[in-house]
Amino acid sequence: MAVMDKIVIANRGEIALRILRACQAMGIKTVALHSTVDRNLKHVAMADESVCIGPASAAESYLNVPAIIAATEVTDAVAIHPGYGFLAENADFAERVEQSGFIFIGPRPETIRLMGDKISAIKAMREAGVPCVPGSDGPLPEDAEECIAIAREVAYPVIIKASAGGGGRGMRVVHTEAHLGNAIKLARQEAEVSFGDATVYLEKFLENPRHIEFQVLSDQHGNSIHLGERDCSTQRRHQKVLEEAPAPGITPEQRSEIGNLCVEACKRIAYQGAGTFEFLYDGGRFYFIEMNTRIQVEHPVTERITGVDLIREQILIAAGKTLTHAQEDIQIRGHAIECRINAEDPETFMPSPGLIEGFHAPGGPGIRMESHIYDGYRVPPDYDSMIGKIIAYGETREIAFARLRVALDEMVLNGIKTNVPLHKWLVRDRGILKGSFNIHYLEKRLAERRA
Ligand code: ADP
Repeated sequence: MAVMDKIVIANRGEIALRILRACQAMGIKTVALHSTVDRNLKHVAMADESVCIGPASAAESYLNVPAIIAATEVTDAVAIHPGYGFLAENADFAERVEQSGFIFIGPRPETIRLMGDKISAIKAMREAGVPCVPGSDGPLPEDAEECIAIAREVAYPVIIKASAGGGGRGMRVVHTEAHLGNAIKLARQEAEVSFGDATVYLEKFLENPRHIEFQVLSDQHGNSIHLGERDCSTQRRHQKVLEEAPAPGITPEQRSEIGNLCVEACKRIAYQGAGTFEFLYDGGRFYFIEMNTRIQVEHPVTERITGVDLIREQILIAAGKTLTHAQEDIQIRGHAIECRINAEDPETFMPSPGLIEGFHAPGGPGIRMESHIYDGYRVPPDYDSMIGKIIAYGETREIAFARLRVALDEMVLNGIKTNVPLHKWLVRDRGILKGSFNIHYLEKRLAERRA
């Protein structure tokens, strides 16, 4: 018998298909929720049942809590998988799901709330012994003089961040004291407008860090493990473009030291489900910046090097099972790289929705493609522009890159503009191949290319 009878997939695109595949492999029935423009999604056709929950606008469909709960009730499902984005890190939604008698496939609402507020997350991590960026240790006070004293103590440059922030918004870098007061004022206003919460805090601005994050799994019985790290430094406007695991140059000792601290932190906060601890890595040291309490876009690189099916584990944990793997079972083998394929102009990065006319997926040893697109599929203009991911694996990083180059060259994707040309350029870039990059590397190379 399956661990659960029927799961509602409250998401769209590649992650909805990924969840559906996991459910089918586990013998679990599925309900695909979709908006009016998403009737033609591949997973909608494959699901046991589907329910249209509203019009194209995400606010009226994928974020429409009453419609999602009602659809779960009428289809007699037992659980809801939120995927990533949309309602995945919405504590109120998780609470509503539980109050309605269903299982939310993710952490408990109070954990989402604790980690969703960056100040409380950092406080919890400090208490657990996880290294954090030096900073204000709490909200910035109203008093200007006190703020000046805090910034001096931390030392410039500093960054002002919204406690409720997300998506790279509401952050301001300050290089000199003369600009501090105004930056705090603007950051507060932005935070209020974007997140409805003007609370801001201050951190040391690390000038050339890498973004390295640790994947964890925790069950309801106090067991937690980590699955190593991913390097997601190749970003544009704080959006990840290439991700890889393991992170170049990170030693097994560093991996187990930081990984074990994450595991301890999970136990302390009684974490449940899959999660990611995000760090900045600078001068050989890790600094926690935030936790994501959901599955992430880049999860397949970790799956590839550990052999663990993270979506399956999420479902098993939500069903109350104990973790399938102990820490000593987790062996890291080889190297995996993921590139995110977006329907966008590779030069201007403007979204490029439309009809896909001619699509052939790449294949061969070590190549995995996660995508919902097919020949004749129309990419709607209403949602995020990501239309798929190619994940390349190799026994070494060099082999993984070589396979990724072949896969990108081999893929045919016509009718719309995509960032595939950008990826073809990146996977031949000297700095990327050497692994000598930081979070500013891609933007710097793009600026050089324009010049
Ligand atoms: P969000 O939740 O909006 O994504 P994060 O706290 O994860 O915000 O930060 C997003 C990005 O902003 C990081 O990946 C990094 O590029 C940059 N950043 C955040 N904090 C710092 C810092 N203290 N120093 C330098 N860069 C930072």
